[in-house]
Amino acid sequence: MLTDDQAPIDALVIDAGPLIRNDFTASILNRVGKLYSTPAVIAEIRDAATRSRLETTWLPLLTLRAPKPGSVKIVGDFSKKTGDFPVLSVTDLQLLALTYELEVELNGGDWRLKSVPGQKKINGPVPKAVKDSGEGKVMEGLVRDGGKAEGGGDAKTADAEETSAASAGALSQKFCNTHISTDNPTPTVTGSMEQASPSPSEPTANEDPDPPFSTPTSSEDSDSDSEGWITPSNLHKHQSKSTTSTPSTNPTKNPWPIRAALATTDFALQSVTLQMNLHLLSTKTLQRIHTIRSHILRCHACFKLTRDMAKQFCPVCGGPTLQRVSCSADSKGAFNIHLKRNYQWNNRGNVFSLPKPTHGSASGKGDREVLILREDQKEYEREVVRVGRRKERDLLDPDYLPGILTGERRDAGGRPRIGYGKRNPNVARKGGKKK
Ligand SMILES: [Zn+2]
Repeated sequence: MLTDDQAPIDALVIDAGPLIRNDFTASILNRVGKLYSTPAVIAEIRDAATRSRLETTWLPLLTLRAPKPGSVKIVGDFSKKTGDFPVLSVTDLQLLALTYELEVELNGGDWRLKSVPGQKKINGPVPKAVKDSGEGKVMEGLVRDGGKAEGGGDAKTADAEETSAASAGALSQKFCNTHISTDNPTPTVTGSMEQASPSPSEPTANEDPDPPFSTPTSSEDSDSDSEGWITPSNLHKHQSKSTTSTPSTNPTKNPWPIRAALATTDFALQSVTLQMNLHLLSTKTLQRIHTIRSHILRCHACFKLTRDMAKQFCPVCGGPTLQRVSCSADSKGAFNIHLKRNYQWNNRGNVFSLPKPTHGSASGKGDREVLILREDQKEYEREVVRVGRRKERDLLDPDYLPGILTGERRDAGGRPRIGYGKRNPNVARKGGKKK
């Protein structure tokens, strides 16, 4: 059976990130048939050292190709539906479109993909041509006895996971154990086409790895010393595990061979890639990524999600009610946000009304400060410009004085303060007269 860590990749599309950081090693690239990128990505790299390295080492390997406008339109429309479109750059869209185009070309159509976010099944059945080919038979086999194959896959994965922690001797034993235990969960999983397809239902996917995990651990308490500890010998395995985070827990969930894949570090691009059911690979280890986690802004009042993390006001209702929440996207096309269970909105400062605006305060000399409450307020616009300018400060400026000497205030995160900020205006200040 193909495990994802060894499965050959026919075409790999790469972003500027791995090129700049020089992430790939020769051993990893052995799996890749052809490396693709778009001309826009190459144009993006302006740093002299990176450029020269790119020209000497990467350009001979890379195939530069611009996607067709039709593909760009398809991925553009998809990303509009997921809400990622505003944060995707033209380069991002082109990379995604190229991956889509290659997938369609090499895989004989878009049957493996999803055309709408949250689509339960893949677009179409496995085409006959793919079925008849050698690989197709492997895939068919996996499809036929879906549950079994998947259970086996998971067990193997669980195995692979453990390998990093356990010693090599325990591996073979565990291998036997997992194969015995895989037969147990088989009856619970129906071997239907949908189950084996890349969108199996959540519970079956999660329950399967448990038995293999529990059986081996009980049988090998003797060498538990080496297990679970990060030592210099297994450090890089743990690092690669953490870069791919949760994903590597189930790399073999998807039995399809990898025709076209995308390696990028951009979250919005990763999210759309996963939701389209395109293959997403880690830029460090080229392992398949199944789940990505990030943060997103959510309005506490109207629940609108915003991907632009620089926003301070809700784009729909306009209130300063945006909150940073964690979110995850997985290869089943699901996009989830994770909220705190007992979250309580902070109601401080709501007892008394805001002070009335007074004339003459615009000069800043007045007693009253002008509170920023909405995005289109001229004070806010002015403040955004001021904060932006301050960020561009030259670090080598000989005339620079730290803020503590100039009396210049620094707000947290370098963003304009909204309302009273963290201060509670209804609490009497210590030390007598209010300002
Ligand atoms: Zn809102």
